[in-house]
Amino acid sequence: MPPSPAPQPRSSEPLARVQDRVLLHLRRSTLTLLEHVPANAAGAVLPAGEVPLQHRRTVGSGRPAPLVLDPARYRTDTATPQAPFRFPPANLCNPDGDPGRALKQLDRCPSPFDALLTPTGLLASDRTGIQALLEAVRLVQGLRTRRLVLALPLGPGWLTRTGTQVLAALLAPVSLPKALVLDGEHGPVGSVEELRALRCVLTELPGTAVLGATGLTALDALAHGAPFVSVDAAPRSEGPSPPGVLHHRLLTYLAGPAATAHLQGLGRCCCEPCLQWGEERAHGRVGRPYAVLGQDGNAEAAHAHNLTVVSDLARKLTRGAVRGDRTKLWRRMCTDAVREHDWHRDAAGPALPSLGPSEELLFRADHPAR
Ligand SMILES: [Zn+2]
Repeated sequence: MPPSPAPQPRSSEPLARVQDRVLLHLRRSTLTLLEHVPANAAGAVLPAGEVPLQHRRTVGSGRPAPLVLDPARYRTDTATPQAPFRFPPANLCNPDGDPGRALKQLDRCPSPFDALLTPTGLLASDRTGIQALLEAVRLVQGLRTRRLVLALPLGPGWLTRTGTQVLAALLAPVSLPKALVLDGEHGPVGSVEELRALRCVLTELPGTAVLGATGLTALDALAHGAPFVSVDAAPRSEGPSPPGVLHHRLLTYLAGPAATAHLQGLGRCCCEPCLQWGEERAHGRVGRPYAVLGQDGNAEAAHAHNLTVVSDLARKLTRGAVRGDRTKLWRRMCTDAVREHDWHRDAAGPALPSLGPSEELLFRADHPAR
């Protein structure tokens, strides 16, 4: 008898195409960044609504990168116990606006997306938010879905020890894939305590994705069990200041006058968009100077560079490494980044402002605080 063929991954599994990926999480205001999605690694989370003409080809058939749809109702609505999800108005197929039926419709409607986030409102970390979450869990309980992912947009205050316990208890019975949405406006991860709480949620709820975070938080989540992550490309680009420039060995976003003073001394970046920049100018030198990336007016180039660096680091992290090994590998990468800070500080000399590792980096490296 011939041997049975090896089991193939089922394409019907909602997360099969996005597994281990770093997706670019776009808003309406940052859709132009879609053209910078690195073809080799990532994919994109797109907002609901019309896709601008120049980007339709990217989301058409034959596209190489997976796509996720985010209705982003958390930007306009708060989840309530009566309506944790905000659907479009009732239609012919669902004249009563039944939320259970609307979820099924969402799952089955024809679209080019590999996964769809539920239209969850923002979950406040209070009694209303908890009751809204309970109702959301009730509605998705037992739902058989091909590509729906339960979006959990967390407002401030969830990433605490108590918040973690509440999330773990309420979400444990949910079999639908889950994704925490932690964008910079509502639920940024800005402290060691929040980072620790996020790791606890991922341990308690295996298979939970982390979306809309910064690149380094996304990598930390990937190293601690998140099946996929997305990076909010431009959470702070609405203001006049350019984004920080991520350095692949320092594992730090160089932003602000003290940090950008160091860009000159960091030489040139050789990530894919930076290599391309060098080739187009044919100056005889490879790559692009970090100092150029940090200049005003180069925000879009810096975003493309940052996303590519995060994608490259994610590939290094996930290539052949199982979860426990990923955690160790990430800790080692962060330990090396702390050393790189020391090395760079000595090389830069006393003329430049000191560039020390952040508390978050020291925590990720399991290094005693300084
Ligand atoms: Zn670069």
